[in-house]
Amino acid sequence: SMPALLSSGDDNLKVMVRIRPLNARELETGGQKCISQSNDRSLRVLTSEPQHYTFDAVAGEDADQDVIFQVAGRPIVENCLAGYNSCIFAYGHTGSGKTFTMLGPQADGGQHCQMRGLTPRVFESLFQRIAELDKEAGAGQRTVKCKCSFLEIYNETLTDLLSPAEGQHLQIREDASHGIYVENLCEEAASGMEDVAGLLARGQAARRVGETKMNRESSRSHSVFTCTLERTSTDASGITQILRSRLNLVDLAGSERQKASGAANERLREASSINKSLSTLGHVIMSLADVQRGAQRHVPYRDSRLTYLLQESLGGNSKTIMVANIGPSSSNLAETLSTLRFAQRAK
Ligand code: ADP
Ligand code: MG
Repeated sequence: SMPALLSSGDDNLKVMVRIRPLNARELETGGQKCISQSNDRSLRVLTSEPQHYTFDAVAGEDADQDVIFQVAGRPIVENCLAGYNSCIFAYGHTGSGKTFTMLGPQADGGQHCQMRGLTPRVFESLFQRIAELDKEAGAGQRTVKCKCSFLEIYNETLTDLLSPAEGQHLQIREDASHGIYVENLCEEAASGMEDVAGLLARGQAARRVGETKMNRESSRSHSVFTCTLERTSTDASGITQILRSRLNLVDLAGSERQKASGAANERLREASSINKSLSTLGHVIMSLADVQRGAQRHVPYRDSRLTYLLQESLGGNSKTIMVANIGPSSSNLAETLSTLRFAQRAK
């Protein structure tokens, strides 16, 4: 079995590539596979001159949702309870499996569905660990408080998926006591899976309304589900400590090149903002890797809303896992190569 990410080394960023199976359409049209997994960490692209790529982990098409959770989800739960911020990103072109990886086939994550994705599994594990901590603390104590928010970034504007309003443009603010935060963003307490499933379903429904009413395509927006944890622990000498951390689960906009040829102004703006926020994310991650190696570097967090919002959850002691999703079909070769290069640069 594959080793869990973050368990070895002190790298704060780990990159996993997940290869989904050929889908029905690709099979029907006689889709050729152009990706072949070599082992737990590497794969080959079967072009005339085969290319080899190595990552922290490679999950093949037979890796089920539980394997992905054990490798990329479980370590994040422990990290958050230890008081560190964490991010899990799903990167890849539209149709590569980002939402399947993060959520699963059902809008609310599907509590009892075998195919449920990382988000429901991470919260199941989190609530289980919290129950254990409460029990250890004894006497009906509640050791961890969770609050969740869910937002969408579309065209560099932020919309609250839990409390959407037409024409909403939430602002990112920064001050000494709160750090970086989104002004007026709805935050709801969550103490169990029912709460989380309810919030996920509400957010997904709001996304669909936005798609039809405001002519948006969800593949062109980033969605960010954030859980803020506050853990209170008292040590043997009676000293109480409060640990605060954030867990961000991010389903990124499709990484395909956004074409704006002949498009109206709106589409043009959209295309450039998607390309820009994904490339900024890449630059931020690369700069952070250099900083970790001891270099003095400016990290361009402010160049996109996404990276500005997540500034305190990237870098420093934060842990980040990037799941780069790809399909095996030769019909997507160009997009797949672009994802593999992005994932490679991130290392
Ligand atoms: P994206 O969010 O990147 O656009 P989706 O997650 O919606 O892509 O996946 C596209 C389709 O492929 C969906 O029907 C999804 O259920 C299916 N799919 C994706 N990954 C897998 C996988 N690992 N195993 C089985 N089906 C998958
Ligand atoms: Mg999706």
